[in-house]
Amino acid sequence: MSEIRQQADGQVAALLAAQAGVDTASSQAQALFATRPGPPLWLLAEVTYRCPLHCVFCYNPTDFATHEQELDTASWLRVLREGRELGAVQCGFSGGEPLVRDDLEELIAEAHRLGYYTNLLTSGVGLTPERARSLKAAGLDHVQLSFQDSTREVNDFLSHTKTLRSSTRWPNSSSVKAGPW
Ligand code: SF4
Repeated sequence: MSEIRQQADGQVAALLAAQAGVDTASSQAQALFATRPGPPLWLLAEVTYRCPLHCVFCYNPTDFATHEQELDTASWLRVLREGRELGAVQCGFSGGEPLVRDDLEELIAEAHRLGYYTNLLTSGVGLTPERARSLKAAGLDHVQLSFQDSTREVNDFLSHTKTLRSSTRWPNSSSVKAGPW
């Protein structure tokens, strides 16, 4: 078991014991913990509904303008802290397209500092070499790059864009070396 998972389990056990008013180390507390589901291990932070693509199958609201504003930076930082307190060990930044958030590096840096393993779930549209380096420097551990299809015709049809070979889509840039991500 990883050190982070052990730490998370300990935090949850302490929380449950405190709620039940029993000593954390007692057999009563251990039995209580054993009967409860484990902590949430994955926090998926859908940081925005905005996206430069317009996929026909998108499950996000398409009427962005009529929606309430996104959570601001301070609110997301609080959510990240609360997720760790609950025991989450992995944090995915998704959307919409998370790259449209100017504070993404700040959010990732805080998630990294809190001990999360961090993922970025992105279409790659807008992921310039500079942004990729910036995100990595902030502590990003992993990138999940999504395509709508492997052919230009279907990809561009499904996304209502011409982005399969867009110069702003990361894999087309020869100047970025992924490194040991
Ligand atoms: S890339 Fe994802 S968020 Fe963006 S339009 Fe397509 S399905 Fe929706």
